[in-house]
Amino acid sequence: MKKLIIILLLIPIFGYSQILKRDIPDKLVVLTFDDAPASHYSVVAPLLKQYGFDATFFVCEFPPNYADSTKYMNWRQIQELGKMGFEVANHTKSHAGIAKLPKEKFISELEYIEQKCDSLGLDIPVTFAYPGYSLNEQAFYVLEGKGYSFARAGGSRAYDPLKDHPYLLPSWATDAGNKPQILDAFKEAKNGGIVILTFHGVPDLEHPWVDTPLELFKEYLQYLSDNNFKVIALRDLESYIDVEKARQLIEPDFSKPLKN
Ligand SMILES: [Zn+2]
Repeated sequence: MKKLIIILLLIPIFGYSQILKRDIPDKLVVLTFDDAPASHYSVVAPLLKQYGFDATFFVCEFPPNYADSTKYMNWRQIQELGKMGFEVANHTKSHAGIAKLPKEKFISELEYIEQKCDSLGLDIPVTFAYPGYSLNEQAFYVLEGKGYSFARAGGSRAYDPLKDHPYLLPSWATDAGNKPQILDAFKEAKNGGIVILTFHGVPDLEHPWVDTPLELFKEYLQYLSDNNFKVIALRDLESYIDVEKARQLIEPDFSKPLKN
């Protein structure tokens, strides 16, 4: 009887240990860039290369001005990011709030970006970011059916791969005024916690409330470099995390903060 109790007590420990393929190092940071503003191509990508950092670009055709190349990247520029080695990932075709979207429409929004990437010789995206942090559990079935590994939300806290469902990754979003919060966030990249940042434009001409000024962006990159952070794209978390196991073992918790 005692043996049985011990075995039952150990099941969750063994189960959760299977989620990690290897230990999460301290100072692990994921940089993500949303909405395909023009500055991602002209400013962000060259700076990231200069520092040797990887990153994920969550692209969409942001209405109504996505075709205006002074405001947004065109698909040739997005293709160029992929050729530079960055991850080009899915943010839906039209920046759709998916919580109220019929399933078929969500699928077609995803597939538009997948087909664009495929036609340009880019990898078909395996990570997703919820536009406007709008999400629901029904989206999980669609993402799982299409083979997505991770989906990023908000919430301003560190990602704990043993507790957070792979389709509910938390992140902090930067803006012109929250430098102290972001510098504090970097300190959370320890003891198994992974820090994921959401950037918009540097600058963001269309959405100034999520603008990150160039000087501040450079400061963040310099800080990460000076302090020996490992800076990766979201897809690279698959080398640390068995997403299938994580999906099986972790109950999604919608009560946690998920918006920025
Ligand atoms: Zn967005």
